Amino acid sequence: MKKRILTGDRPTGKLHIGHYFGSLKKRVEMQNSGDYEMYILIADVQALTDNFNNPEKVRNNVRELMMDYLSCGIDPKKTTIYIQSMIPETAELTVYYSNLVTIARLQRNPTVKTEIAQKKDLFGESVTYGFLGYPVSQAADITTFQGELVPAGEDQEPLIEQCREIVRKFNSIYGEVFKEPQIVLSEGKRIKGLDGNEKMGKSLGNAIYLSDSEEEITKKVMSAVTDPNRIKKDDLGNPDVCMVYYYHKLFSVNDEVQNICKECKAGERGCVACKKQLTKNIIEYLRPIKEKRAYYEEHPEIVDEILKEGTEKARIVAKDTMKKVKKAMKLDYFD
Ligand code: ATP
Ligand code: MG
Repeated sequence: MKKRILTGDRPTGKLHIGHYFGSLKKRVEMQNSGDYEMYILIADVQALTDNFNNPEKVRNNVRELMMDYLSCGIDPKKTTIYIQSMIPETAELTVYYSNLVTIARLQRNPTVKTEIAQKKDLFGESVTYGFLGYPVSQAADITTFQGELVPAGEDQEPLIEQCREIVRKFNSIYGEVFKEPQIVLSEGKRIKGLDGNEKMGKSLGNAIYLSDSEEEITKKVMSAVTDPNRIKKDDLGNPDVCMVYYYHKLFSVNDEVQNICKECKAGERGCVACKKQLTKNIIEYLRPIKEKRAYYEEHPEIVDEILKEGTEKARIVAKDTMKKVKKAMKLDYFD
C-alpha cells in the first residue's frame, strides 16, 4: 500500500518563493513519483484561529491558494485537495482528542509559545482556547486521513510530536486505530529575504509571490541587498554576503552562477547588471507557473469544481476513519 501523505497550508495569503522552495516543489516531486497517496488540506479552520475577526481574508485566499497549487503542478488527478472546514469528522475528532492532551502540555509546545508571543496584538495577555488548541486540531487533520508522512519545515516538529503523543494515548486507551505520523523535513532550506532577512515571509514585507507581475519582480530585485562594501563596480565583491548572488543560486544555471561569483570577486561585474540578469531569470522561471495561473484565473469555475471533487473524495475517507474511531470509543450506537 502506498504511504499516505498529509500536508497543507493556511489560506491567509498567496504563496511566495519561500513556500515554493521550502515545500511546494518537494510536494510536486513526491506526487509525481507515484509512490504516495497525497492529501493537501486548505486549512481554513486553522486560519481562523488567528483570523477569526477577518473571515473575508480566509475565504478569499482559499481560491488563491488553490490556484497557486494548480499552477505549480499539483495535479488533482493524483492528489486530493480539500477544504478543512468541509470535513466535520476532523472537528469531531478534535473534540475527542481534547481529552487526551493537557493545557500545560499545549502551553509548553515551543511552536505555539513562539506564535502566541508574536500575536500579542491579537490576543493581548490571554490567548483563545481555539488558538492554544490548534495542535490538537492539526493532530486530527493528520489522523483523519491516517496520514503517515507529513512533509514540513522544522517549525512543525513540535506539532508533529504532539500529534504522535495524542495518537499513542488514543491507541493505549481505545485500541490501535491510528499510526504515529512522521515528519519528512524538507531539504529545501529556509529561504532568505532579498532584504537580507533570515526568512522571506508575508508579514515581513520581503516576499516575491509566485503570482507577482514582471514589474513587481523587477522592483523587488532592484531593491535587493548587495555587498555593502562594494561601492564602485571595480571594487572587489564578496558574493557570500550578497542577496542577489543567493538568489542566483536558486534561479540561474550552474555555469552562470560560477561566472557571476568569479566576476563579482574580481570586480568585473556591476550589481545593476547582476540584478537585471536575476530579474530576467526569475521571470523566466516563474513564466510557466504564471501562465497556468492565468488560465485558472480566467476559469474560476474549474478551480471550484476541483475543490468540490477533492473535498467529496476526502469526506469518504474521513467518514471511514470516524467509523473506526466511534467503534473503538464505544460510541457506535446506531448504524
Ligand atoms: P507569515 O509572515 O504571515 O508568518 P509566512 O510567509 O511565514 O507568513 P506561513 O503561512 O507562516 O508563511 O508559512 C507556512 C509554512 O511555509 C511554514 O510552516 C514554513 O515551513 C513555510 N515557509 C514560510 N516561509 C518560508 C521560507 N522563507 N522558506 C522556507 N519555508 C517557508
Ligand atoms: Mg510564518
